[in-house]
Amino acid sequence: VYILGIETSCDETAASVVKNGQTIVSNVVASQIKSQQRFGGVVPEIASRHHVEQITFVIEEALHEAKLSPSDLDAVAVTEGPGLVGALLIGINAAKAFAFANKLPIIGVHHIAGHIYANQLMQPMEFPLLALIVSGGHTELVLMNDHGSFELIGETRDDAAGEAYDKVARVLGLPYPGGPQIDRLAQESDEAVEFPRAWLEPDSYDFSFSGLKSAVINYKHNVEQRGGTVNDQAIAAGFQQSVVDVLTEKTVRAAEEFKVKQVIAAGGVAANKGLRNSLEKTFKEKNIPFYVPPIALCTDNAAMIAAAGTMMYLEGERGTLSMNGRPGMPLSSWK
Ligand code: ATP
Ligand code: MG
Ligand code: FE
Repeated sequence: VYILGIETSCDETAASVVKNGQTIVSNVVASQIKSQQRFGGVVPEIASRHHVEQITFVIEEALHEAKLSPSDLDAVAVTEGPGLVGALLIGINAAKAFAFANKLPIIGVHHIAGHIYANQLMQPMEFPLLALIVSGGHTELVLMNDHGSFELIGETRDDAAGEAYDKVARVLGLPYPGGPQIDRLAQESDEAVEFPRAWLEPDSYDFSFSGLKSAVINYKHNVEQRGGTVNDQAIAAGFQQSVVDVLTEKTVRAAEEFKVKQVIAAGGVAANKGLRNSLEKTFKEKNIPFYVPPIALCTDNAAMIAAAGTMMYLEGERGTLSMNGRPGMPLSSWK
């Protein structure tokens, strides 16, 4: 089964062909990071315009790299939501046109289901499975008892982890996106400022990062007001330690409570070296299988959309040509 995946929910224009939901045949990502950097973040109108300019080329390139023609494909999978509505619509309309012209079924994929299924491009999933989703807009623990079954057991009550990274980076004067920059500073630092950890109620699997973000801002301002020099590396290291400690502790506690066979991490912040190291080390000690995709499959890409779309295709899920962008689409089970 060959599925073409298309992803345009935020600032990456991406297309990919995946075989049997497991093997990447081609994977093309056109990033807009350079042009969004000038504005310190993603400007929706600019994102849409970039997608319009790139989408046809990106799809053609994905087929070219795969050495396949449209008639070799079984379906088109596209991100239906959540995301920026104007950005989503570019991918959805391209997918509809492609599907209509080539008489292929179309499948609408939830972006976060995509992030989760990026893992299936590396190894088969085993259930029950716990997914830690940490991205620009989401921080969630999701329990899966089977393919396409998603049970939310914890989520952020305010900022997403990636959002906190990007906001703290901006306070430190680092360019967008801030996550990789803070990660680098944190790795280089041998000192760390002590910041609070938001554990919330003892049995809660929810997260909160806005208090930590405020603590970083207050700390920096206090040092500056006293005329001291701010050690940005130590701030980055302290911030990252706080985020990583909370994410690791809650993920481990949930993995043990729900007696899962496999734990996976997904989303842009799963590219974080500090987090990867901490989760790998901790789950090794606990003897629970833990996996995280290579960095290029953690951040936005279309291979993950094709991978999730393949599972949906095999289980009979089909969308229609009246599909619309769903900016607030919930992660609901498809079976
Ligand atoms: P969502 O997936 O929730 O819709 P998104 O698609 O915008 O949001 P992703 O592209 O999955 O988010 O991830 C981008 C986020 O990941 C950004 O906030 C970025 O700063 C963060 N990020 C990327 N690399 C790292 C890293 N090494 N350390 C920490 N954060 C990182
Ligand atoms: Mg992105
Ligand atoms: Fe994403």
